[in-house]
Amino acid sequence: MSLLELRNLLVLYGSNEAVHDVSLTVEAGEVVTLLGSNGAGKSTTLRAISGLVKPSSGDILFDGRSIAGMKPEEIVRLGIAHVPEGRRVFPGLSVKENIMLGASNRAGMKSAEIAREAEEMFELFPDIRRFSGALGWTLSGGQQQMVAVARGLMAKPRLLLLDEPSLGLAPVIVQAVFAIIAEIRRRGTTVLLVEQNARMGLSIADRGYVLETGRLVLSGKPGELWGNEEIRAAYLGGRTMATV
Ligand code: ATP
Repeated sequence: MSLLELRNLLVLYGSNEAVHDVSLTVEAGEVVTLLGSNGAGKSTTLRAISGLVKPSSGDILFDGRSIAGMKPEEIVRLGIAHVPEGRRVFPGLSVKENIMLGASNRAGMKSAEIAREAEEMFELFPDIRRFSGALGWTLSGGQQQMVAVARGLMAKPRLLLLDEPSLGLAPVIVQAVFAIIAEIRRRGTTVLLVEQNARMGLSIADRGYVLETGRLVLSGKPGELWGNEEIRAAYLGGRTMATV
């Protein structure tokens, strides 16, 4: 049984089919990357999985159980955390406070315990340790991305959904963020990653899927996707796909 399975997922915004008949699987322990250009439906797919939008039809199974249409807070409690595009770090809260917010799904935890776990997060994110007390708005884009991922991990998810973690970051920071994603997987968390940066997205993936205007057009191992020149030109190397 797959950890996550989408079956013929359809998501409509009004009459616009943002996601059309998408079926995919993510196995426990994998990093799976969902690629596609602007507006392909990548973010909507993640939003449907985490309950932020309701599928119009199809099903979403997590650990064999249907979660389609459940509330986001129920879904995070089952073990799915979503780090949305754009990071959304609270500007007036400190880095540590921002990270602590990620544990809000874990009922019954004392705040001292949450604070201790937030401190432990800095082992995975040493670059932001010294900013623990700094306010969110003072951070660079890369530092904010690290805070956002750390906050997602505070939910202790079995599946982490990451939406375009490389967006707007300098190449050297992108490398650092991807090294952290690889480490997250090594520590046992399954990752479904949305990326426009095909080269980086595939560099750490076990498998990839490519979406085009709401439809899955390709899937395979990174080598298969990246190794085929025609595919690369059509879907992975276009002008909308940044390469590092
Ligand atoms: P991007 O990288 O630009 O976010 P994406 O692949 O994540 O692209 P989505 O954001 O999922 O794509 O958008 C898929 C389609 O749904 C697009 O046509 C987009 O314009 C439309 N869309 C997205 N959000 C909404 C919304 N809240 N209301 C109406 N249409 C939307």
